[in-house]
Amino acid sequence: MSCAFDLAHFHELLDAAEAGGYRFATFNGGPKPGQLFLRHDIDLSLEAAVELARIEHERGISATYFLMTESVFYNLDSTLGRDALRELRELGHAVGLHADHPRAPADPRFDRVLSWHNPDPDYMSEPVSGFVNVMNEPWFTSGRYRSDSNQHWREGCPHEELRAGAFEWLQLLIHPEIWIYEGSTMRETMSAMLEAKQNDWLTLLANDRIDLS
Ligand SMILES: [Zn+2]
Ligand SMILES: [Zn+2]
Repeated sequence: MSCAFDLAHFHELLDAAEAGGYRFATFNGGPKPGQLFLRHDIDLSLEAAVELARIEHERGISATYFLMTESVFYNLDSTLGRDALRELRELGHAVGLHADHPRAPADPRFDRVLSWHNPDPDYMSEPVSGFVNVMNEPWFTSGRYRSDSNQHWREGCPHEELRAGAFEWLQLLIHPEIWIYEGSTMRETMSAMLEAKQNDWLTLLANDRIDLS
């Protein structure tokens, strides 16, 4: 099995988790043995988030999507942003705040659950007033956390351990952009994302009455 960052291997990861007997759970109780906390930090693309959310929904899986309110890459207050948030909810996923430290305002659009964007170690695992910080105890525990950041699993792709049921429970951080857009390096994957965004933006420009003739 090749551990490519693509949708085929995303399905294989989910297959492995199901074969290992894991149950998909959100951060509102637990962690209990056998639970898999599928977490998505949305750094760059709402389109990729929604696409992955639909795939999970078709498989009967619920994840937690962490969305930014201060991103330079997307706007949650735009039509597209509001539609994305509504669809994530309609598909049965939990939605939390992906926050820029130190700002973590209460916001009725989100569940009271938070992940920091690109956190520094000195505050990453500190409690956050009014929120469950998923990088705080008990959610962030050595050996029970895996992240795909920059297409690099520091402790290896977890598919074999998932299939074997080797984790008591696991928090699995998947960035949708990395898996939805194709490329064998981050550079290639980001280029594919930018190409898709360019096409989307050309449509948005035309809709905004910009003369593209
Ligand atoms: Zn793998
Ligand atoms: Zn982030």
